[in-house]
Amino acid sequence: MNPIPFNWPGLAGRELDYMADSLRRGHISGDGEYTRRCQQLLESAFGARKAMLTTSCTDALEMAALLLEIGPGDEVIVPSFTFVSTANAFVLRGARPVFADVRPDTLNLDEAQIERLVTPRTKAIVAVHYAGVACEMDAILPLARARGIAVVEDNAHGLFGEYRGRPLGTFGVLATLSFHETKNITCGEGGALLVNDEALIDRAEIVREKGTDRSRFFRGQVDKYSWVDVGSSYLPSDLLAAFLLAQLEARAEIQERRRRLWEAYAAGLTDWAAAQGVGLPRVPSHCTQPYHLFYLLLPSLAARQALIASLKARGILAVFHYLPLHLSPMGRRFGGTAGACPVTESVSDRLVRLPLYKDLSADDQARIIEAVREFGETGS
Ligand SMILES: *Cc1c(COP(=O)(O)O)cnc(C)c1O
Repeated sequence: MNPIPFNWPGLAGRELDYMADSLRRGHISGDGEYTRRCQQLLESAFGARKAMLTTSCTDALEMAALLLEIGPGDEVIVPSFTFVSTANAFVLRGARPVFADVRPDTLNLDEAQIERLVTPRTKAIVAVHYAGVACEMDAILPLARARGIAVVEDNAHGLFGEYRGRPLGTFGVLATLSFHETKNITCGEGGALLVNDEALIDRAEIVREKGTDRSRFFRGQVDKYSWVDVGSSYLPSDLLAAFLLAQLEARAEIQERRRRLWEAYAAGLTDWAAAQGVGLPRVPSHCTQPYHLFYLLLPSLAARQALIASLKARGILAVFHYLPLHLSPMGRRFGGTAGACPVTESVSDRLVRLPLYKDLSADDQARIIEAVREFGETGS
């Protein structure tokens, strides 16, 4: 039987046409026609004040750390259950990550833990909307505001997700997106920074352009550009933006396809999961999810490993994530110890993600569902 990959970067249709057009225009460095169009589309889809394409979500997080002037001695609260970059971007500036546990239902930063972790040094809280299901922003935002702490949304999973009807990425002072191959909308490697605070826009342009005021120069606002601040090179090539625009324009079809696949998993596995004591993703009614991932929470590490092996033997690649950051070699250097984030530690052992990508065929998905159900029924 044909192997089923965990992920497959499917084309939306116009990627190659747009890339050819970008070449013909003779502008394949950053901030060309396609970068502008992607940014405009993101701004109108989200109502973000300013969207800036970046080379990755990691780089957008690094820009956020620079813009918030995070430095040595500062603390940043991050969930332990997340991708490395959520913490590393701030560690690069000299800050100490303070690891919070997650809620057992949505696997999001547990808002009830934040108060206990805040100190006079806390400069930022990073809300990661796991699986694109929103963190409890009604609790997090007022708490942060009252203490003068910035909220950054790591919205790598949550493009087109909503919280109480409002798009994710519009709550934090800054928010980041990922267009990595594994995300719903992709250009291979890419990202964006959404700047929701008007006061940060000018500096964000400078930080993104190697610390120069080149953006102002191109708009004719200064007659030469020079080095005016710290910065780095965070602009993607316009060729990648051309690829990305084709995907963004096809967002309705891509999201509809993912919705159907996600719902087929839920329909095919809900009774089985209940009978086997397996947890499925939970989406509170006030959250609109973008169908980024479908996971199972097995009863134990042994059961999770056995399921992954059993699927692999049938040519199906399912994967786990994340390893708790507070228990990683870097996390331990910041004081992380076993037992500090019990929900993260437990979930990290038991979670498995099933293949979910736009071009996953109904037949292949049926094969995956059958293989999972069979595993439970024979207990092996
Ligand atoms: C994918 C991901 C990132 C990093 O995205 P890149 O674009 O690969 O840098 C950051 N945070 C989370 C939660 C992610 O899932």
